[in-house]
Amino acid sequence: LKSLYEQYQDKFESFGYSGAVAEETRANATIVSLVRNEELWKMVDSIRDVEDRFNGKYHYDWVFLNEEEFTDEFKRVTANLVSGEAKYGKIPRSEWSFPDDLDIPKYEQSKQKLVDDNVIYGGLDSYRHMCRYNSGFFYKHPLLQDYQWYWRVEPNIKIYCDVNYDPFTFMIENNKTYGFVMALKEFEATIPTLWKTTKEFIQQHPEYVPENNLQQFVSRDGLRTYNLCHFWSNFEIANMDFFRSQTYEDYFQYLDSKKGFFYERWGDAPVHSIAASLFLEKDQIHLFNDFGYYHNPYGACPMNQEIFIENRCSCDYTKDFTFSLHSCAPLYYDIQKLEKPEGWRKKVR
Ligand code: GDP
Ligand code: MN
Repeated sequence: LKSLYEQYQDKFESFGYSGAVAEETRANATIVSLVRNEELWKMVDSIRDVEDRFNGKYHYDWVFLNEEEFTDEFKRVTANLVSGEAKYGKIPRSEWSFPDDLDIPKYEQSKQKLVDDNVIYGGLDSYRHMCRYNSGFFYKHPLLQDYQWYWRVEPNIKIYCDVNYDPFTFMIENNKTYGFVMALKEFEATIPTLWKTTKEFIQQHPEYVPENNLQQFVSRDGLRTYNLCHFWSNFEIANMDFFRSQTYEDYFQYLDSKKGFFYERWGDAPVHSIAASLFLEKDQIHLFNDFGYYHNPYGACPMNQEIFIENRCSCDYTKDFTFSLHSCAPLYYDIQKLEKPEGWRKKVR
């Protein structure tokens, strides 16, 4: 350990939290959290981690969104911890309610079926509104209009490693659009017709699908079936221009017209992931393999010891989800021709 310290000593000393980054060098970006008042103390944990590991140096703003008014307590406690400006927005009722033409008996029936099948969140109206909001509306919120880039942070997550650079400017300088940390498989019962609906859409709009896309990440048989892989969207660092594009808007409108957010339980993760994999060029997508991140029940922890030491990670890398059996990251590494860290194979059990 001592020799490792000596090896990286100059790096340690060049870190530290002294000196904020000048405003001119920052990106047009914000951190964003959709969160409920009851989740205040879980949100506090996330803010502390993000501020301690990253934002304390950069002071990006933080936008909090909710379909209800935030309480004074929520605002007072969180604003005190955010090193940039904290902003609080209410979601318009129209973006968090049932469409007028929703067939209510059909909805209630299909919901009951998911409950009977023990599908997670299957019985919740609120979860469906949340997924639909994250799929088609968050980037339209007035408070987000001032920004181009966002980092989505949920309550109760952990950041295990220092972020010693600005991931937003990294994305910009490397021509990236969508960044993620973990990837896994969706529960099929939540999206029985999402893929069929997607295929109808791209048949209508073949011009939206660039040749050099990442479609192999979502389909292993030339788009016949969906392999259920998706980027875990509770963490995202991305360019909202993508979601604000005609392509994505048309895609969302088509999905929304089929009411699958309600009759099924379509998640924003497969929606964002399918869109990014089909409508972006594959090199516009980025895996942050140097991030330590946890969202119940899985965590990513850099196995690469150089990264682990350099970023002062505090996670157990033997429990890294990235290279475990149910992770879609190994597939992503293969498609993107990325080098996997030493020892990754031991993880695949
Ligand atoms: P999971 O990650 O799929 O287990 O779902 P979560 O419960 O973590 O919800 C995803 C995100 O949406 C989190 O940031 C939650 O705080 C937020 N969220 C979920 N339901 C609601 C809701 O009814 N109202 C608000 N304001 N936020 C919600
Ligand atoms: Mn969550």
